[in-house]
Amino acid sequence: MGILVLCETDGGQPRKSAFELLGKAKALGLGPVTALVLGPADVTSLGGHGADAVLHYDNAVLASHSTGTAVKAIANAVAATGASVVLGSASNVTRDAFPRLSARLGAGLAVECTDLRVAGGKLVGRRPVFAGKALVDVKVQSAVALFTVRPNSFPVAASTGATAPVTTGDGGVSGSDVDVKVVQTLAPESKQVDLTEADRIVSGGRSLKSKESFDAVIRPLAAAVHATPGASRAAVDAGFAHHGDQVGQTGKVVNPSLYIAMGISGAIQHLAGMRTSRIIVAVNKDPDAPIFQFATYGIVGDLFEYAPLLQAEFQKTLA
Ligand SMILES: Cc1cc2nc3c(=O)[nH]c(=O)nc-3n(C[C@H](O)[C@H](O)[C@H](O)COP(=O)(O)OP(=O)(O)OC[C@H]3O[C@@H](n4cnc5c(N)ncnc54)[C@H](O)[C@@H]3O)c2cc1C
Repeated sequence: MGILVLCETDGGQPRKSAFELLGKAKALGLGPVTALVLGPADVTSLGGHGADAVLHYDNAVLASHSTGTAVKAIANAVAATGASVVLGSASNVTRDAFPRLSARLGAGLAVECTDLRVAGGKLVGRRPVFAGKALVDVKVQSAVALFTVRPNSFPVAASTGATAPVTTGDGGVSGSDVDVKVVQTLAPESKQVDLTEADRIVSGGRSLKSKESFDAVIRPLAAAVHATPGASRAAVDAGFAHHGDQVGQTGKVVNPSLYIAMGISGAIQHLAGMRTSRIIVAVNKDPDAPIFQFATYGIVGDLFEYAPLLQAEFQKTLA
């Protein structure tokens, strides 16, 4: 019984998504919540965010992700805790490890959930399907159930200051389990929050016309909104932004509380990546642009006129 939460870390600290999942896991009331941390990290903050216990596989072999070590360590943690639910953030790590973990444990897997609830004593995950056109509720029948949840699906409460007992171990893995060797890690050029975890995003489309104008219009607006800049595929293909900035079916799936789409038509492949955003603001000069069907607020107008106005307002309000 109980929930095992895979808490990913960045720079030796738990990611925000770990706190989100722990808080939600605690609120679900399905038994004790154990935070699982793979690799050396500072785990002291996890008790304050809902972990009843911490299982820290403080093994240098787990410091960088490899499928073989992650799957083995998580499977060992499930055995050690007897957890019936494993939660992870919808991330590159879980996209890689959880399908294999599912096969190894014979456990059902529901990916990319945007909500979790309990019905009849079982966890139910709500997830978008068909590029976000519909939502389905997924119940897992197997003895162990695996769920991944998109970042920003749940709020992070302030720490209660509680501490949780920490059990350390090596996760039962060694160098011979490493099947993917990380040879280099490149830090992103900017210090901005990663798109997949960003709470606010300002994206630009093909309508920006050039990289110079994307840099002059979208990036300062994003800075004023305290947002991460994003782009449509058309903007990326045209060289206005980096591929890592692309939102959509073949880019990143984002789930911010605010998504501002500047001159983006709202093609189904773009919507697939941002449709679950809580508030969508669209600026487009075409009143029939599909994005307006999904926008919470829409401005029919020229983005080159409205971007500076929005920027000035946000600068005043968020200064
Ligand atoms: C297999 C596949 C995968 C794909 N994956 C992705 C993906 O991951 N992400 C993605 O974004 N797309 C993806 N696409 C492409 C997608 O179909 C669209 O072509 C793309 O999203 C369009 O980008 P856009 O809205 O910037 O450009 P357009 O469709 O050209 O739209 C530009 C919009 O800007 C408006 N506009 C023009 N000038 C102004 C102005 N001055 N002020 C205000 N509004 C203005 C226009 O009215 C128009 O609505 C994929 C396509 C395929 C086939």
